[in-house]
Amino acid sequence: MQLSLTYDAELLAEALDRLEGEFAGLPGFEAEVPGEGRMAAVLAEAAQRLGDNFPYFHPLYAGQMLKPPHPVARAAYALAMRLNPNNHALDGGRASSRMEMEAVREIAAMFGWSRFLGHLTSGGTFANLEALWVAGLMAPGKNVVASEQAHYTHSRISGVLKLPFAAVGTDDRGRMDLAALEAALKGGDVGTVVATLGTTALGAVDPLDRILALRKKYGFRLHVDAAYGGYFRLASNLEGEAQRAFECIEEADSIVVDPHKHGLQPYGCGCILFRDPAMGQWYKHNSPYTYFTSAELHLGEISLECSRAGASAVALWTTQRLLPLMRAGEFAHGLEKGREAALRLHRMIAADPHFVAGQMPQLDIVTWAARAPSREESSRRAQQVFDRAAEQNLHLALAHLPARFFQGSEWPDGDSGVPVTCLRSVLMKPEHLSWVEEIGKRLQRAA
Ligand SMILES: *Cc1c(COP(=O)(O)O)cnc(C)c1O
Repeated sequence: MQLSLTYDAELLAEALDRLEGEFAGLPGFEAEVPGEGRMAAVLAEAAQRLGDNFPYFHPLYAGQMLKPPHPVARAAYALAMRLNPNNHALDGGRASSRMEMEAVREIAAMFGWSRFLGHLTSGGTFANLEALWVAGLMAPGKNVVASEQAHYTHSRISGVLKLPFAAVGTDDRGRMDLAALEAALKGGDVGTVVATLGTTALGAVDPLDRILALRKKYGFRLHVDAAYGGYFRLASNLEGEAQRAFECIEEADSIVVDPHKHGLQPYGCGCILFRDPAMGQWYKHNSPYTYFTSAELHLGEISLECSRAGASAVALWTTQRLLPLMRAGEFAHGLEKGREAALRLHRMIAADPHFVAGQMPQLDIVTWAARAPSREESSRRAQQVFDRAAEQNLHLALAHLPARFFQGSEWPDGDSGVPVTCLRSVLMKPEHLSWVEEIGKRLQRAA
């Protein structure tokens, strides 16, 4: 049952019966389904086409940030699809809007907020767009500053919003360099600093506690992009500095987290939270064609997007019902297992003469380079290891990172800022912990 499909079908069938019962008072009708007789055939064709994918659900897929949604999330999403609610307005999705508010409240509570403004979005990019849009309205024309390892969309979003953007350097572990940040702050005109807790390439955690100390001194709006790392607030096995950053996350002005990254959700689920509920003022609109019919808050009144999948909220609500967002809970243990797997893989790689290990992982992402006399040769070998590992069903990722992230590489010093193609593995699945020895073996064979 590799894909657990029968499992999904059983779960779903029971819930669908229950849902049918909720609408039992309606007269029966004959649904008109164009192409009814040919559905199985075209679906079989689609299934065959989907075979052309890496096996994201399998523990030997250890490449990019792709985590299988929880079976209960898939079932809840499919269940909601029977109605296809739209969380723009209560009229489009009454139950799913309320479920969204409850689920988002639980996420905010995870970050220590009980009073806040927040909602789901189609993903992290749109959530960050909302955060920087509000930041720009609060400090018009002022700079947005993020680190060179921040997600590439921050500079692009700033461009869309016509806000000037500046990137500051990082230390050798990919965390924002505070001396560089302070230099930018002294230069003046910084309206917003974006701190990343869990960078996309390395899983690096910017030192939020010390960035907050700089906020006291210089004053700026602080946005935390925790699209990838946010849930690690619940993990108990982070190293001290990363843990401190997650502990003071409630001091931020806004936070982004992606339930579709580490929160076991299907794609189409990001989340934006503002500490100050008064930020709702910026969203006010008065369009004659949206269909608000009650005095209760409609999510469309506090989000930039109009139509949004109510099914995303239903899947998230159901998942959090099953696995509450708490420390030492089952969900937190899943994150801890991935992190432990990453530490073990890092140790195996550090002991292997074929490789130059990157820095110790701060979350669950491991990076390493191929040992070779030059950066060019190392890049070539990384590609080779990537291909040979794939032949053994071990799927890794490639990344281009500054050579200085690989200390002990013996490449010329002049190479330090130049990118090298290296290997990267994101160990997001709890199964990765029991599979990490096997992953190590296959990697060794590939090398
Ligand atoms: C993935 C990611 C994003 C972008 O989120 P999407 O959901 O892919 O749009 C932004 N920031 C960080 C740190 C991320 O890891």
